[in-house]
Amino acid sequence: MSLSNPVFIPGPTNLPESVRRAIDMPTIDHRSPAFAAFMPRLFDGLKRVFGTRDAKIFIFPGTGTGGWESTVANTLSRGDRVLACRHGVFSDKWIRLCQSFGLIVDIIDCDWRGPADVARIEEVLRADTGQQIKAVLATHNETATGVRSDLAGIRDAIDAAGSNALFFVDGVSSIASMDFQMDQWGIDAAVTGSQKGLMLPAGLAIVALSEKALEASKTAGLPRYFFDCNQMGQMTDAGGFPYTPPMQLLAGLDHSLDLLMTEGMDQVFSRHFKMAEGVRQAVAAWNLELCCQDLQFASDTVTTILVPDEFNGDELVSHAYSRYGMSFGVGLGKLAGKAFRIGHLGALSEAQALSGLAVIEMAMKDLGYPIVCGAGVAATQEWYRTAFNTHSESSTEITKSSVENVA
Ligand SMILES: *Cc1c(COP(=O)(O)O)cnc(C)c1O
Repeated sequence: MSLSNPVFIPGPTNLPESVRRAIDMPTIDHRSPAFAAFMPRLFDGLKRVFGTRDAKIFIFPGTGTGGWESTVANTLSRGDRVLACRHGVFSDKWIRLCQSFGLIVDIIDCDWRGPADVARIEEVLRADTGQQIKAVLATHNETATGVRSDLAGIRDAIDAAGSNALFFVDGVSSIASMDFQMDQWGIDAAVTGSQKGLMLPAGLAIVALSEKALEASKTAGLPRYFFDCNQMGQMTDAGGFPYTPPMQLLAGLDHSLDLLMTEGMDQVFSRHFKMAEGVRQAVAAWNLELCCQDLQFASDTVTTILVPDEFNGDELVSHAYSRYGMSFGVGLGKLAGKAFRIGHLGALSEAQALSGLAVIEMAMKDLGYPIVCGAGVAATQEWYRTAFNTHSESSTEITKSSVENVA
């Protein structure tokens, strides 16, 4: 492996140099006024990233999985029913987490090449005349399949069915990269981790809860201690933390939020779209198929590419790693061996993305895939030349703020 190559796994993502420097700091006392003064800034920035004014933000030591656990443990009781679509390994893991907490999960098995099935969600909720279903779970961006689900559509389905269920969203691989509007989409709990769109090392679970979810936490019966939102909320409101905070990661978060705010969230979303679209252009030029069957649901943070029948995606990924020192994602779950994934979220330039496409082309050629070296790269070059041209001013801005931080 070469440490100077970017990674193309969909998290943990590449660390901007200025974020690494922000994390490299001396110990500060978390009971000092300096710590109390520092936290509110993080909540303000995170609210903008989550697209919310009204929700309350909680930052736990942990990862995305801890964020789910916190959401479930704080809002539900043993024996409660929840509704979830299963269309990839991440949606499946959330279902298992709920089951291990003694919740009853109504599972809608969906095609792994598509999004959560909004029509089925509405149907199941309509049939639930006794309002037994307490929460609807959605994985915004299935990182296994590269398929995005329609959260606004799911909100409409919940409303159309007259359901009072809470709406929980796993936004681990979409928040801070793809359009996310917690308030507008009526989301009651949104979860992310630090190591994806926020461009940090793993180590933080970030959860946003609506007023309705906070209200539910008052009567929720599941046990919680480490992930208790009420305790966490009270302590952070008072400028403290209920246990030892991972100070260096929080300092990194402060800086990565600064990078995102300087760029502007709309610009962040459009940059991810352009980056992803360039990768899709390469896939088309290779004559390979996306896992995502309907382009309107294609993820802007990870692209899952099916390999032709006679090939094995795992071998391709391990060859790219051993021969060229570059990491790509393997196919997960049902897609093991049948696909590979290119992660393109967080800090990534056009030049870096092109290096990944050039390497995977070489790896495919080495293994006898029916592709022409340079075909994908050429298609992406054409797209990046034009797509990024109109926004050259804002990309200078990012560079400027990173330089300032280094100085
Ligand atoms: C990465 C990821 C997770 C898992 O998060 P961890 O931080 O590894 O616990 C959950 N959901 C989605 C959609 C992800 O992409």
